[in-house]
Amino acid sequence: MSELKLVLGEGPVPARMMLIGEAPGANEVAQGRPFVGAAGKQLNVLLGMAAINRDEIYITNMVKFRISKINPLTGREVNRPVKKSELIEGRVALLREIARVNPKMICTLGNSALQGLTGEFELMIGDVHGSVIAREIDGLPRNIFPLYHPASIIYKRELQHVYQADLLTLAQVMRGMD
Ligand code: URA
Repeated sequence: MSELKLVLGEGPVPARMMLIGEAPGANEVAQGRPFVGAAGKQLNVLLGMAAINRDEIYITNMVKFRISKINPLTGREVNRPVKKSELIEGRVALLREIARVNPKMICTLGNSALQGLTGEFELMIGDVHGSVIAREIDGLPRNIFPLYHPASIIYKRELQHVYQADLLTLAQVMRGMD
C-alpha cells in the first residue's frame, strides 16, 4: 500500500477569495500543490480572462489527498469519484482552513465542493452557478459563489461561455465589496 500524500491549500492568509476544488490528482500529488495539472491550467486561463490574479487567492480542496482506485484491467492508479462520507470527513479540516483564511468570498468548484462545504447534498451546480449564495458556515455568515469545476470545460466545451460569464459576475461582485 502506498503512503498517503497530502496536498494542502496554498495562498495568502488572510485572503479575500478562497477557491475550493474536489481533490488533488496525480500531478498535484507529485508537485504537492493544488490545481497544477490539466484542470489547474484551465483554471489559470479562466482566472486570466476575468483579470483575477491567482497569487491573491487561497486555493484548496475539499479532500486533501488523491481519491483513486486501481484499474483492474491496466493495474494503474486512476481517479475515482469522491464519496459523500469522504466529503463529510474532509469538511472538518476545511472549516479550520476557512476560519484561518477568513475569505470574503468562497468559490466552490463543481458539485463536490458545493455540496461538501454546505452539507446540502441535493444542491446542484447547474442550478446555482454564477450567483452568490449566503450560508452560515461553522456559525458565521459566509458568501459562497458556486462555479463549475474547471475540468468540466475540458469535456464540455460549450460550458466555456457560461464559465466566462460567471467569472465576470464574480469579478463585479468582488469589486462591489471593496
Ligand atoms: N486538482 C485539484 O487540486 N483539485 C481538483 O479538484 C482537480 C484538480
